[in-house]
Amino acid sequence: MSPARKRRAPSSNGPTLQLGAHVSAAGGTPEAPPRAMEIAATVMQFFTKMASRWAERDCSDDERTSFRARLAETKVATTMAHDSYLINLASPDPVLRARSIESFAAELRRCAALGLNFLVSHPGNFMDDHDAGIARNADAINRAFAVSQGDTILCLETTAGSGTALGSTFEELAAIIARIDPAYRNRVGVCLDTCHVYSAGYDLVGDYEGVMARFDDVLGLDRLRVMHLNDSKTPFASRRDRHELIAEGSLGEHPFRRIMTDPRLVAVPKVIETPKLDDAAVTDARMLTLLRSYL
Ligand SMILES: [Zn+2]
Ligand SMILES: [Zn+2]
Repeated sequence: MSPARKRRAPSSNGPTLQLGAHVSAAGGTPEAPPRAMEIAATVMQFFTKMASRWAERDCSDDERTSFRARLAETKVATTMAHDSYLINLASPDPVLRARSIESFAAELRRCAALGLNFLVSHPGNFMDDHDAGIARNADAINRAFAVSQGDTILCLETTAGSGTALGSTFEELAAIIARIDPAYRNRVGVCLDTCHVYSAGYDLVGDYEGVMARFDDVLGLDRLRVMHLNDSKTPFASRRDRHELIAEGSLGEHPFRRIMTDPRLVAVPKVIETPKLDDAAVTDARMLTLLRSYL
């Protein structure tokens, strides 16, 4: 059995803590697993291309083999990519829309090639009409699924809601998911980003249980497949997306303690995307140690 085909233990089966970070893939995707290992991560997120460029690429067989071999040397049990920031699947502009769908399908192809568990994606900006934007976003996802293989789960990420960004309410995410072709719907989940939901007006500090209950009512906790643990540099309901070190921003320590000890979230992989400061490995390792200390 090749390393590429090796099955890793499902996350829900063991007591292994599902905690890690967004790591750099500079030098190529096979360079990401050693960086995850350096910070004792069991979950890893990375970009499979330059996130701020349109240029696409496919993963070669050599890359796949090398990536899987190096991943197998780590304790990382769950892998995910974050898609490019340029993609806007809700755009009314036909040129940007076509380019976005093509780029998003390429993201899915690379995830399949590397055998990644999840692709985290921000819903798009509707620009003109809100409801039309939701329909366009879902339709674009359907089109990308139709032209890509694999079983990577797409996680729509909660957003801070700046400008015309979709995804700042659980209802908007539910509306997008409801429009996904039933043939693909079991491949769609949600990534809850603590910084984004707090900025969007969900009070994780004052009403943690209320926010979780709301998520469960509108989306169902079984759709919650990934969490991004980030504190925020901006105040509650700011609608801004500025990540801060854990326990050093407007969320503070309390919601992260709740999340780390919430039995409903044990099997949900958790990833930090906090500032890296001068040394990414040192800072991320410190953040993960802090989060583990809440257990
Ligand atoms: Zn995030
Ligand atoms: Zn963010």
